[in-house]
Amino acid sequence: MQVTRKTFDEVMVPNYNPASMVPVKGVGSRVWDQEGTEYIDFAGGIAVNVLGHCHPELVATLKEQGEKLWHLSNVFTNEPSMRLAKKLTDATFAERVYFANSGAEANEAALKLARRFALDHFGESKDQIISFKQGFHGRTFFTVTVGGQAAYSDGFGPKPGAIDHVDYNDLSALEAAMSDRTCAVMMEPLQGEGGIISPTQEFVEGVRALCDKHNALLIFDEVQSGVGRTGHLYAYMGLGVTPDILTTAKSLGGGFPIGAMLTTEEIAKSLKPGTHGSTYGGNPLACAVAEKALDIVNTPEVLEGVLKKEALFREGIKAINDKYKVFTEVRGKGMLLGCALNEDYKGRARDFLVASAANGLMCLVAGANVVRFAPSLVIPDEDIKEGLERFERAVAHVVNG
Ligand SMILES: *Cc1c(COP(=O)(O)O)cnc(C)c1O
Repeated sequence: MQVTRKTFDEVMVPNYNPASMVPVKGVGSRVWDQEGTEYIDFAGGIAVNVLGHCHPELVATLKEQGEKLWHLSNVFTNEPSMRLAKKLTDATFAERVYFANSGAEANEAALKLARRFALDHFGESKDQIISFKQGFHGRTFFTVTVGGQAAYSDGFGPKPGAIDHVDYNDLSALEAAMSDRTCAVMMEPLQGEGGIISPTQEFVEGVRALCDKHNALLIFDEVQSGVGRTGHLYAYMGLGVTPDILTTAKSLGGGFPIGAMLTTEEIAKSLKPGTHGSTYGGNPLACAVAEKALDIVNTPEVLEGVLKKEALFREGIKAINDKYKVFTEVRGKGMLLGCALNEDYKGRARDFLVASAANGLMCLVAGANVVRFAPSLVIPDEDIKEGLERFERAVAHVVNG
């Protein structure tokens, strides 16, 4: 059956507006579309393809597990999920893991756990959840309400309650909003969708201290920042501030859908048998691939490589900007970078994305004013160089009209 981009409009719910080409094949950080046109991939499937496309070791693991056992449900446990959980707990602060299928589901579990933990230990009145404006935590109704963008959460009827938002990096606003009624604070330790905003050191440390003061749980949403993206296995490690609950997804499966919520033994106790669950969560196929991705990412070569590649990106973008004067700064860390547009190009991030695609480069935006790069952590240096050359042509195109 022949399908084209036009088919999308005929059969899909119109909640997305995908690019005009249809990719059919990927190898490493290169992708080809139906016409055979080649692209360099700085988008990484939105910070998912942590080892690029069709990494040979992930393909081998997928094939091997695919011939062994695909699915059981939570009525049985399985070897890949236990191995992956063991490796995640060995590598982080966490002692217990809950598996889900996406970032939103991992966050949904984290929020439900925080509410249940507060109920178990402090009673019904401790229900307030505080999160940050421009934050993004997924699209289920609870997570989208906790996310700080009304445009995503409005228009679906009554929202889950007791959720408040304050400005990111504004410690006194958080302090004013918090009390012993606060059950949890949820934050991204590097805001992704909201525009690639890093927290100040003072802010993250202050958030931790306020949570301790009010017996509130600190939830780090590392769905985008996790699994090596910042050059640390998780961003919290680079900040030196440890959360009580951490969620991870996107890069975790290297392209295979999986999410996980990590926490301590003490907090985990509040999710007793029957309190929460997922049919697919802990699926052996997903866990086998994620285990392999984690094995590869959590090595000094890959993590140190991320910082070297970041330097290449920053150098290249600076050279482009010296010539064309379009950005105010490059934000973010490691392989999660945002080029913030200056006043002259305000609101035009999408124009840069469209021009990039026309020049053989896949990239992303983060809001209307930031062009975002979230490539594979092992993108070859030649692909960075050539991708930036294509990006320069795209920038020139936008600047010259
Ligand atoms: C992408 C993202 C999510 C949602 O993940 P899904 O897998 O799309 O549900 C949640 N939090 C953050 C920080 C994200 O970047």
